[in-house]
Amino acid sequence: MVQSPQGRSILLVATQNPGKKREYRELLAPLEAAICFPDDVGISLDVREDGTTYTENALKKARPYASASGLLTVADDSGLEVDALEGAPGVHSARYAPGSDADRVRALIKDLRGVPWDQRTARFRCLIVIVSPEGAVRHTEAVCEGVIAYEPAGEGGFGYDPIFYLPELGCTMAELPRETKNRISHRARAVGAALQILSRWLTEEGDCTAEEPAGS
Ligand code: IMP
Repeated sequence: MVQSPQGRSILLVATQNPGKKREYRELLAPLEAAICFPDDVGISLDVREDGTTYTENALKKARPYASASGLLTVADDSGLEVDALEGAPGVHSARYAPGSDADRVRALIKDLRGVPWDQRTARFRCLIVIVSPEGAVRHTEAVCEGVIAYEPAGEGGFGYDPIFYLPELGCTMAELPRETKNRISHRARAVGAALQILSRWLTEEGDCTAEEPAGS
């Protein structure tokens, strides 16, 4: 694997999203690796996230960055699945409404007007792909269950966090301390499942083409 000037292995996280970057820096800290992002390696690719599945979109981000950089690369595609909207916006979450995250939050609240609390169940899903420069691929996936709140609350996180209410914690994802979101979120769980694969692939002896044990 490619190494940093300090002799550490390098892992590229193929995202430009500031919220995701912040979370990945913290979630990947247990790895003995230098975590970098496209800007850090001077690569900026125009990726169209027009796939029909999370996996397709995550691969659309990870593959070109892995081949352009020659680095082991991670990308995720995530979405919010609202039961009252038959799973929408799902894979289209980033394009649910034009404008900012706040515009999309407003659009979702409007589309759920009149839907009672017990029918506002939803989940965040995160699909992570790990792609080696040689093209080997693994993926992990996780969800976090919640309820779509009537009004936004909280300043933390990003995206739909202000309206994603966690009944067991009694607050929205945006009201949680960062450390708590990084313990319970869909992304935290998917990264947790990816850590073992990443640490194996990042070691010099790591063979990216070898089969992973069942369950990874
Ligand atoms: P993408 O995975 O970057 O395509 O993001 C899909 C959409 O889901 C975007 O609108 C994000 O803002 C939103 N999103 C992704 N992850 C999270 C999260 O952890 N919390 C809230 N919204 C998220």
